[in-house]
Amino acid sequence: MERQINKKRVVLFLVLLLNLFFTNLAFGGNNFQKSEITQGELKLYFSSDIDRVTFFSIPQDDGSTKYVYDVYGGVLPPNRGISHHTFRTIESFRIAQNSPTKLRIVIKSTQKQLDKHSYSANILAIPLIDGQTSTLLGKTIENASKVKKNHLSSIKKRYRVVIDAGHGGKDNGASCCEVRREKRVVLSVAKKLKNKLENNGYKVFMTRSTDDFIYLRRRTAFANEKKADIFISIHANASPNKEQANMFQGIEVYYLSPAQTKRAKEASEKENSVVLEGKDFFTKNAYVSLLNREKIVESHKLGLDVSNQMLKNVREHFGSVVNGGVKPANFWVLVGAQMPAVLVETGYITHPKEKKRLFDPHYQEALAKGIAEGISNYFANREKEME
Ligand SMILES: [Zn+2]
Repeated sequence: MERQINKKRVVLFLVLLLNLFFTNLAFGGNNFQKSEITQGELKLYFSSDIDRVTFFSIPQDDGSTKYVYDVYGGVLPPNRGISHHTFRTIESFRIAQNSPTKLRIVIKSTQKQLDKHSYSANILAIPLIDGQTSTLLGKTIENASKVKKNHLSSIKKRYRVVIDAGHGGKDNGASCCEVRREKRVVLSVAKKLKNKLENNGYKVFMTRSTDDFIYLRRRTAFANEKKADIFISIHANASPNKEQANMFQGIEVYYLSPAQTKRAKEASEKENSVVLEGKDFFTKNAYVSLLNREKIVESHKLGLDVSNQMLKNVREHFGSVVNGGVKPANFWVLVGAQMPAVLVETGYITHPKEKKRLFDPHYQEALAKGIAEGISNYFANREKEME
């Protein structure tokens, strides 16, 4: 049997290496290298050929105009600060990671019609003076401004959310007793959350909507396939042993990050150990250390919004609920997600008070409402930051 196990390990290791390779590619993206202004034209250089750029403009109250360019596949390298440019027609210039796969450039200008930009190979060129044409004989940029009126918030993007109900099938997750199992609670909450999000106009996908077993790796792969904007994994926690059942309670939210506390480590080890999909911790840690900084920051923000609204909603109707905080951890189920991702521990299924609440449909409703509000707050803040 030992030989078989070794073989299995080797295969797992190879799969992880492949994963690493592709994740590297995905996270690596098309790196922004530098920008310069020559002869009234702003040029932005990337590490490889530009695939697609969209553009729209927003008239400002003060008479100026904001010109917004999205470079798909564009990545701002982690150690690169915000670029600055001074030019007589430019009031401000910003470049930022708008989403894990989109780099956004915003120019506030006194000019009325800066729409002669183009891109070719690895260069995006933007003339900064009305009427001036680009020196590049490249592709013109798709104009997205038909749908964008005066204000960004007037267009509601249809965000895509993947909800992951933890465990399922032969994997029961945490349990307190015979029938009260984590896999059931989390599926109920996930379904309620799906309804709420759909009512709010989101496009929602679920990794499971029945009592089925699904590999952890498959869950984030699914989210990547669906091009989800965010990934939410829903779980319930358990105390380390029966004797400590009274000591552990509350709502916790985790996001993937190399840094983690002792408590977070315990929680992640518990969730991770449910399904053995490769215990090569060295490889896993190497993987996590490759995480894009932007994604960690976004996941943390998402976690904070979700945590705040969950606590607000459950406390409104059920009195005090312990705030377990928003913490970094190495959850296997979050590894590989190419979008901001969080894992929600809705409460302790082993705590005398919480185990009753967790199976109460009203409590589940409050949890789902809180998560949905948190998600909306997160997207609203993200849009505001880019205005
Ligand atoms: Zn779980």
